[in-house]
Amino acid sequence: MASPVLPSSGVLSPLGLDAVRPAPGFWGDRVALNREVTVAHCLEWMEREGWIGNFRGERPPRGREFSDSEIYKLLEAMAWADHPALPELAETVARAQESDGYLNTRWSGERYTDLEWGHELYCYGHLIQAGVARLRTHGEDRLTEVARRAADHVCDRFMAGTQTCGHPVIEMALVELYRCTGAERYLEMARRFVERRGLPALADIPFGRAYFQDDVPVRQARVLRGHAVRALYLASGAVDVAVETGDQELLKAVEAQWERTIATRTHLTGGMGSRHSDESFGDDFELPPDRAYSETCAGIALIMLAHRLLLATGEVRYAEAAERVMFNILATGVAVDGRSFFYANPLQVRVPAAPREGVNQAAEGGLRSPWFAVSCCPNNIARTLASLAAYLATADGTGVRLHHYTPGEIRHGGLVLRVETGYPWSGGVTVRVVEGGSGRISLRVPAWASGARVARVPAERSGTSASWGPAEPGYAVLDGEWRPGDMIRLELPMAPRWTFPDRRIDALRGCAAVERGPLVYCAESVAGEPPLDDIAVPVGPLAEREYGHVVEVPAEIVPATGSAWPYGPARPYAQAGERVTLRLLPYHRWGNRGPATMRVWLPLSDRHPRRR
Ligand SMILES: [Zn+2]
Repeated sequence: MASPVLPSSGVLSPLGLDAVRPAPGFWGDRVALNREVTVAHCLEWMEREGWIGNFRGERPPRGREFSDSEIYKLLEAMAWADHPALPELAETVARAQESDGYLNTRWSGERYTDLEWGHELYCYGHLIQAGVARLRTHGEDRLTEVARRAADHVCDRFMAGTQTCGHPVIEMALVELYRCTGAERYLEMARRFVERRGLPALADIPFGRAYFQDDVPVRQARVLRGHAVRALYLASGAVDVAVETGDQELLKAVEAQWERTIATRTHLTGGMGSRHSDESFGDDFELPPDRAYSETCAGIALIMLAHRLLLATGEVRYAEAAERVMFNILATGVAVDGRSFFYANPLQVRVPAAPREGVNQAAEGGLRSPWFAVSCCPNNIARTLASLAAYLATADGTGVRLHHYTPGEIRHGGLVLRVETGYPWSGGVTVRVVEGGSGRISLRVPAWASGARVARVPAERSGTSASWGPAEPGYAVLDGEWRPGDMIRLELPMAPRWTFPDRRIDALRGCAAVERGPLVYCAESVAGEPPLDDIAVPVGPLAEREYGHVVEVPAEIVPATGSAWPYGPARPYAQAGERVTLRLLPYHRWGNRGPATMRVWLPLSDRHPRRR
């Protein structure tokens, strides 16, 4: 089956790319743009930057020590998208592999002498994931052969001993290769890599061992910490190991880490990471909007972890978190033209970024860039969108569950369902039975959708008004026999709503944000109007315009009084301001109109105490 994750057990089982086919719509459009534009864009840039030339032996080698992994992520994207450029690129990679399976174009020292920073095993992880994608979409070929030889080399070299890699990812890659091939040594190698962490397995570094999760064994950790992408990849690999070895203790440990991390270390957008210096989580409730790091890759890694936990447990909260990240990080990370990307996704930008051509040397937000010196995010977006269909729906013994809504077709058992929806702009979802059969159909009802309703409309009554029943947050479950023409209709209330932060998030105290459905909204100021530093809002009525593409908020502009000292006795919004209507747009659409300032969290006016 064509899916990035295929556990051998769990409450839910995936439906792959062969079973779920997005049609034009919010996600279908992005999947198509990715296949038609972004994959070629990434290929061009990696050729231009010399990262592919490294595999042809061009010298001096170019790019960072992990640039090989970028080619592998793109190969994975190409495999899922059945891209015609895959065989040639795979052949280039294959020719660089040494006779014992070792493959790295950037490492010039003695092998495996700097596992803290060398990224040799990390690169294999992405190579193996590309090989798995090819095995599941095509079958054995040059790419899968290279990946298996690399995996065998890793097992030969690392099965004994105590070593692991500074950057996790090989753990989940090896488990997935085990799931493809049945070769138990891959699972055992992954299990050992997970268990070695925190004993410790790596040398101490200036950031501290928590940076690469080597401070505490995985099963003893209480929260995700350190470098956010590393933490989320490791947790994903730990879930994979736990599921395949029946290790309930390990699974429960990761679930507890997830719960606390979501409760205390996650931005409203679902983004993770608060510190730029080491791309890491902050302390609990350390969630500054302007210094939010919230790397696009951390969002993608959160989708990967959430999906694994959803499959293992069937708990709706994992699908809920994945949706938040999909709409507010994944969709934000790539521009509407598919050719430029955000690396960091802060929730406030104070200074408009200067437009620039070429490679962005930094990861800072402001404007999307066509490429980065560390360009993990574009290729990660490419492989995730190329396989996104595999995240949308699942099966279990009783039928099919829809977790995410976008137009398209879903096949399972004998059932063929067509999903019709304008989500997330409209809250109406119609599931039409194209080919009938028996089985349960479950539709996810998000936690924000109080007042949602659902109706079953048999084919013979399709012209009459539906008889609605309430749909509580969780899953609306409909059982029975389905005939062609039968419909299920779900209505999710989409009125925009105010959202307030936990009082312990000091950086957000005195602010509110606006959400509508799964979307977080923001104020954007392209030419300095309105001045976002001077905005204050009473918690007033919200009005949506243009099918939710704009939400209007009553606001005031309270000009700051110039002062040589930014502290004093007067409350900040004591004076009256000019009344204006602030137009908010979905966060994922910001930064598409040129340099701009932006804020998600809006300061509350002192003069209009909120009534709730
Ligand atoms: Zn990244």
